[in-house]
Amino acid sequence: MPNIRVCALFRPLNVKEISDHGDTVCIRAVDSDSFVLKDDKEEEFEFHFDRVFYQRSEQANVYEFLALPIVKGAVEGVNGAIVTYGQTGAGKTYSMEGPSIMDCDENKKGLLPRVVDGLFSAIRLSDEMTKYTINLSMVEIYMERVRDLFDLSKDNLLIKETKARGIFVSGATEICISDSAEALRSLSIGIANRAVGETQMNMASSRSHCVYIFTIQKELKKEKRSGKVILVDLAGSEKVEKTGAEGRVLEEAKTINKSLSALGNVINALTGSPQGRANHIPYRDSKLTRILQDALGGNSQTSLLCCSSPSPSNASESLSTLRFGARAKHIKALAHVSLKEDEDTKSPGALPVIKNESCERIL
Ligand code: ADP
Ligand code: MG
Repeated sequence: MPNIRVCALFRPLNVKEISDHGDTVCIRAVDSDSFVLKDDKEEEFEFHFDRVFYQRSEQANVYEFLALPIVKGAVEGVNGAIVTYGQTGAGKTYSMEGPSIMDCDENKKGLLPRVVDGLFSAIRLSDEMTKYTINLSMVEIYMERVRDLFDLSKDNLLIKETKARGIFVSGATEICISDSAEALRSLSIGIANRAVGETQMNMASSRSHCVYIFTIQKELKKEKRSGKVILVDLAGSEKVEKTGAEGRVLEEAKTINKSLSALGNVINALTGSPQGRANHIPYRDSKLTRILQDALGGNSQTSLLCCSSPSPSNASESLSTLRFGARAKHIKALAHVSLKEDEDTKSPGALPVIKNESCERIL
């Protein structure tokens, strides 16, 4: 059974949300892995995750829980993936990059700079006989086309597989990084290129998936091993308006929806339905799942961070994000509906009376 952690993260309220609803939030914490969300119809849903990061969480804690085990594994040749999911504005990029990739407060640093530091410190701790090489690629998936973020002229790259390399983006630039400062400089070039590409194509970055691939080669005497850490800042998961969307906006929404469902289906198949693990894992259903193939299955480690706003204005998108996470892991009886008519039977101070419903219906 692959090791998959599914976590929820609530970013702090923003100025607009505070001006609309004051400091009211639509969630009530139960403990470090459970909470209750109230939607705009006043229905309550209880969720359990591997860990919940509430509004005041430290980025360091997110890193330690989600990414550190993956970093340690990658140095030993085990692949891993860290994926941020959620509607636009929910905190995916902030969780990945922090407020700025290059210079920001130590405590605000995001997952990417921490992964870089983690890789280099794991290497420093290893014995001197072992030689390590770390390569970095950055690609973007937009409308099922894979583009090199270190060289924008390389568009529509193919994903290939060989015995020696596993799955890789053929022709993507690989930058050999030898220390944290160099890695951050390269990451900031890729991030700046993404913005250039956006303008060229008149596309919002929230409509594409950004994929960061670190490949770590370990060489001791004649033995060679390689591990990967793939970080993915997914396209916004929000539904487009049922009416009004047409042309490219509709096409974008359809492809995003297709790849996000493909990701959910792969994680779902890997973690196994209550009846057992599926035989067929549908990696080939999207470019995203194909790139992630050998970082999701087998003995790899995966972390999914479901980012949401805690504001009542975003309750329905937050609910759909959290359901995605819950469904991905088959966490049984995860979300229960507490129907309002149960209100009277509540004992003081207790959680709302939960009406058990089948997972399928609710999720
Ligand atoms: P997304 O990438 O999901 O579209 P962002 O990460 O860009 O969303 O976040 C949207 C806004 O919220 C940004 O202005 C960001 O600075 C702010 N934000 C997100 N997460 C946090 C956080 N944990 N702490 C403080 N501000 C945050
Ligand atoms: Mg973003």
